[in-house]
Amino acid sequence: MKKNLLGKTGLMVTPVGFGVLTVGNTQLNLSVNEGSAVLRYALERGINFLDTAQYYETYPYIRKALKGLPFDPIICSKCLDHSYEQMKFAVEEARREMDRDVIDIFLLHEVRSDDDLSRRQGAIEYLQEAKIKGLVKAVGVSTHHVDVAEKVAMLPEFDVLFPLINFKSLGIRKGSGAGTKEEMAAAIALSAKQGQGVFAMKVFGGGPLIGDYQEAIRYVNKLPGIASMMIGFGNTEEVDRIFEMINGTLPSSYVPDLSQKKLWIDQGDCEGCGICLDRCPNQALFRNETGRANVNEDLCLTCGYCAPVCPVRAIIMISR
Ligand code: SF4
Ligand code: SF4
Repeated sequence: MKKNLLGKTGLMVTPVGFGVLTVGNTQLNLSVNEGSAVLRYALERGINFLDTAQYYETYPYIRKALKGLPFDPIICSKCLDHSYEQMKFAVEEARREMDRDVIDIFLLHEVRSDDDLSRRQGAIEYLQEAKIKGLVKAVGVSTHHVDVAEKVAMLPEFDVLFPLINFKSLGIRKGSGAGTKEEMAAAIALSAKQGQGVFAMKVFGGGPLIGDYQEAIRYVNKLPGIASMMIGFGNTEEVDRIFEMINGTLPSSYVPDLSQKKLWIDQGDCEGCGICLDRCPNQALFRNETGRANVNEDLCLTCGYCAPVCPVRAIIMISR
C-alpha cells in the first residue's frame, strides 16, 4: 500500500489505518491472542497506521502484535481527561503498556465544543511538553463536531485532526445539532491547508453504511486533505477486502456480510442512573417511560463507548 504524508508531521501513513477499538472489550471482545493476530496480519500485509485510546483498553493487543515486527508502525492514542497530570499519566501508560519509547501521535479524545477544548488546557500543556521531550511526535484532536474541527484547524499548537466524516453525514455534529458532510469536508480542507495532518474516522458511520462499502470508502478516500482513514477490522478477510478496494481489484459486485452490530440495553438490569446518556457522543440514548435507558438506532453509531460506564453492565453489543 502506498503511503501519504500526514501534514507537516513528517509521518508517512498508509491511506487505511487499523482502528483497534473493534477488537477490544467494548466491541468484538476478541481474546488478546485472536485480536493481536488480526492486527499482526494487517501490519504484515502493509498497513502501517494504528489508532487506539486509553479508553479502549486495547494496548495489550497492540503490544503483542508488535512483538518482533520488523518495522515500527505509526501509533495514535488519545485521552478523554482534561488535566496536565491526567494526560501525563495517559502518555506514560501508553508508552509502558505498548512497550514504546515514543507514541507517534497523541490526541485530546472526542472534543465536543469550544468550551470543552478550553477546559483541556492542562492536557494540551502536557502534550506540548511531551512533544518537546520527544515522548510524542505530534499532537491533535479527535472530534465529531464541525465547529471543533474548524477551531482546531486555526490553532498552530495542533499538528493533526481526526474528524468523523462519511458520505451520509451520520454522526456529524455542529453545536448541539447535526452537521453535514459538506461542512466537515470544508473544515478538513481548511485544516489540511494550514499544514495539519488529517485522518478520518467512522467512514461507515460506525456500522450502518457497511452495506454501501465501496461508496463509503471511495467518498472519504477522495476527499481533499485526507491522508488516511481508520477502519475497524474484526478478521483477516476484512483486511484482504480493503487491500482489494484500495488497489482497485475488488469486483464492483462485491457486497459485504451485512450482519451488523446492534446495541441492546437489558431493561431488567438497567437502574436508570443516566450515566450512559451523558457518555454517548451522539445523543443516541434516552430515558423511556419507565425511566430506564433506551437506544435510538437511527442515531447510534455502535461505537460501544457507553457500555463501560454502565455500573451494572446493562449495555450489550449484539449481532442483528
Ligand atoms: S448509544 Fe452507545 S454505542 Fe451508540 S453511539 Fe452512543 S455511545 Fe456509541
Ligand atoms: S448507565 Fe446502565 S444502569 Fe445507568 S441508565 Fe445507562 S444502562 Fe441504565
